[in-house]
Amino acid sequence: MTTVTTPAKFTELGLIPPLLARITELGYQQPTPIQAQVIPSVLAGRDLIAGANTGSGKTASFALPMLQHIHAEKPMSSKGGKGNYATGLILVPTRELAKQVADNIKSYAVHFNGAIKTVAVFGGVSANTQMLALRGGTDILVATPGRLLDLISSNAIKLDRVKTVVLDEADRMLSLGFTEELSELLALLPNKKQTLLFSATFPEQVEALTQDLLTDPLELQLQSADASTLVQRVFTVNKGEKTAVLAHLIHQHQWRQALIFVNAKNSCNHLADKLSKRGITAEVFHGDKGQGARSRVLEAFKAGEIDVLIATDIAARGLDIEKLPVVINFDLPRSPLDYMHRIGRSGRAGEVGLALSLIDYDDFHHFKIIEKKNKIRLEREQVAGFEFDDTVSEELLAAIKPTAKPEGSGKKKWNR
Ligand code: AMP
Repeated sequence: MTTVTTPAKFTELGLIPPLLARITELGYQQPTPIQAQVIPSVLAGRDLIAGANTGSGKTASFALPMLQHIHAEKPMSSKGGKGNYATGLILVPTRELAKQVADNIKSYAVHFNGAIKTVAVFGGVSANTQMLALRGGTDILVATPGRLLDLISSNAIKLDRVKTVVLDEADRMLSLGFTEELSELLALLPNKKQTLLFSATFPEQVEALTQDLLTDPLELQLQSADASTLVQRVFTVNKGEKTAVLAHLIHQHQWRQALIFVNAKNSCNHLADKLSKRGITAEVFHGDKGQGARSRVLEAFKAGEIDVLIATDIAARGLDIEKLPVVINFDLPRSPLDYMHRIGRSGRAGEVGLALSLIDYDDFHHFKIIEKKNKIRLEREQVAGFEFDDTVSEELLAAIKPTAKPEGSGKKKWNR
């Protein structure tokens, strides 16, 4: 894969004035590395595979050239809105991402003055409104696979005139079990089309998909620019003290906002109650909440009206919450890949961010696996005032083998 390092200017990428004007208005000063590579290649009509993390600016990298192509080839509205076809198709794993990507595209398209139509379709809400929105076709359709198949079977939309298809977060789509839906959808696309595949990781399933799907693709691997702006720390805490440590850290650091991950829906509410007793107001975000409630919480969090959000992994992927100062793993994610997705919510697009994990004895082994799989190694730290209780057990002492004696500050280094 090509390693992306080139800094560039937006004006050098071949974009047209209505898009450049919007980029300036949005305050984007320089293309991100992935944008510098992807935008000219997509404009040139190439297929591509990009290893892009969340927060790399990948949405603009495919959205801007797609808008430019559609503008050049006359959008649907200028053809009188005949036929229920989609020209550009973006497949995404979750409803939130569908909404977010469509919102970004609408924002990038403002200087086309409504000429380019973008519709998002996803499950969990009534299909009728989406069917109405699709009447007369759409220039860009952002969709989750299951709902799109339903809409196709009701003849609400056709894919046989798609010119560009984007698979966004392909690894996540496959890991969420959309393999069959994806192959059904891809079979409905015309042979001649441009295909762009974005994935944070490339497990076998994704590799197989890329081989079937793409023609002479350009392969790009973004050097992990995010990693350099994201500080990861891990704190060892005594069993049963995680809530106290968390509340202490929140009070001590006074972060503007924090996103806290737990593993189960009911743990969200449980932790929110416990924090509330310690004077911290938190909202929860999980899959049991209705779509409307989820969107409202997310909007309020994005608007800075909520300081602390406790979420399950449903919030770990793709959601773009601007400049989140800290992400905290209260529970460790089961999958090492989800660790990367969770921490990717902080330090986005060049901002400095902080990712903290709280681990008690039961987590030690699993955290080592997370480190190994993600090729990271973090120094174990302790929170002053909540020192790790080294009288707990012989077994524990043997397991953690301290390499340095505790210092006055209460911070100790452990080498496991
Ligand atoms: P994404 O990885 O597409 O979810 O984008 C992450 C965030 O970066 C979004 O808030 C974008 O608006 C923002 N962004 C995208 N491109 C740039 C850029 N070139 N400069 C600054 N911010 C950007």
